[in-house]
This record gives sequence, structure tokens and C-alpha cells, in this order.
Amino acid sequence: MQNALLPNGQTVNAYEYDPQIHGYEIFCYYCKAKVSHVGIGKRNDVPFFRTTGRNESIHEDYCPEKRQVKQIKTLKTLNNYTVDINKINISDFHVIKVDFGYNDITHMPHGEISEISKNNPKKKLNYTLSYSNRKNCLVEKITSLATIAKLLQKNTPKQLSKIALDISGKMTLVNQLVIDQNQAYEIAKSSNFYLPWFIIYGKVRSVVKLNKVMFINFDEQDGLKPFTAYIFSGHYKFFTYTKEQLEGKHVLLQGNIKFNERYNKTELQVILNKQLYLLN
Ligand SMILES: [Zn+2]
Repeated sequence: MQNALLPNGQTVNAYEYDPQIHGYEIFCYYCKAKVSHVGIGKRNDVPFFRTTGRNESIHEDYCPEKRQVKQIKTLKTLNNYTVDINKINISDFHVIKVDFGYNDITHMPHGEISEISKNNPKKKLNYTLSYSNRKNCLVEKITSLATIAKLLQKNTPKQLSKIALDISGKMTLVNQLVIDQNQAYEIAKSSNFYLPWFIIYGKVRSVVKLNKVMFINFDEQDGLKPFTAYIFSGHYKFFTYTKEQLEGKHVLLQGNIKFNERYNKTELQVILNKQLYLLN
């Protein structure tokens, strides 16, 4: 958030805010949740206000700052259906192959990825039976973030919980591939890269384009962990989204994640437009 409300009813911009003048009692402009100021520092280039996700510092459900797009609501509900991929009977699942086809550019494997061999029964599935009546909602193959967005749009959390994704022979579930920035933080910090790459969803707070690098910073309200995507200037010709197109929007970002110890945040390198999808 760029503006906050003072106890006297006036608003203050994150650039103008000075605790000596305005004090520490500052609130969300819309729902009056307590917010705190994050100044320009090691972690960010733009000052902002945020809720911490603790005590009174959480946006109310009606607050526009909490507004979510349908696909993200679906993903959050999907987490209630969490199952262990190793304990499921894969024949109960609809298996969809995931192949983005450009991993030659973005592929930077994090060590060994255990693959299911071609002879494994998991490869020979007869999964169409129970899903024959809803073929229209399901795709054969996921080749882009747009297909993922469509899948999340057209299916209920319950339906999505019955989908297994096959990424180069590695089986996973929708909510293990498409994760939020807190999950990305845990995975990257612990180096528990159970997939070669991930899709992170979130809201873009700010975009900072410099001569050598461009940063896409995710929103950090209600306790969300810092997450930044970056694009080197050499790739600007492949990544053409602008600050105006991205700020305030909910997006999906695909790629390898890594932990930045120095700034205590998760990072993802973006090279191509295809690695980002704008959710409406
Ligand atoms: Zn609010």
C-alpha cells in the first residue's frame, strides 16, 4: 500500500511518512487495520505500508487490499484437500502432462530429480473412465501458464484435488506446483526443491526497472514473505511487460526459485514473457 490513514483522518504517503511527525499509529485506508511502514532499504527500492498478519494487523475480508482473483481463492481452498502424493492411488487421479517446452532456456536443475521409469505402472494409466463426463473442463496437456490459469478457472477445488500432474515423469499435485510466496520461501530456504521448477502466485506490489536489472516485487501484506522476480537487461527484449501493466495485478510466475540469504527473500529469474501470466 502506498497510502495510510492517520488517527486524525488524514492520509499519508509512504514517501512522506516520518514516525517523528506522524507517529506509529497508522492504519489501512479502507478497513482501518493496523499497518507498519517499510522504508527504502536492503530489501526494497520503494517504501510502502503493510499489514503483518498478526493481531490487529490483518485486512478485513471486505477490504479491497484483500481482494483476490477467482483462481487464487480456488488455490487457497485446494490446500484444504492436501494429500501426500506418495500415499495416493494414482489410478483415482486424472493425470495431466506438464510440458512448457522452453525448459532448455530456463532449466537450471537443483540436483537430482527422481524420475518414474517408462515401465512403471504409473505411466500406463487408464484415468479417463471417471472423468469422461467432464472432458470439457480438463486438458490433455499443460503447455503454458494460460492453461494452468484456465484449469484453475474452470474447475472447483474438489475437482482439482483429483488431478495429478506429470512433470517429466515426476508426479505432483496442483497445489504443490502452484504455490504462494510463503510456500516458495519455505522450499527455497530449506533447499527442499521437490520439483525442477514452480509456479508462484501473488500480487505485484512494485516494479523497479534499472539499467541492468528489473525487479518485480510481490505484495507482502498479512504476513506474506518477501518474493521478487528479476530480469537481466540482456533479456528485456524477451520480457516486455511494463510497470503499468504489472503493478497491482495478480500474476502467475514460472521458473526456478532460490533463496537470497542476504535479503532474506525468495527470488525467481524471468527471461521470457511466457514465464508470467496476468490473472484477471
Ligand atoms: Zn485493509
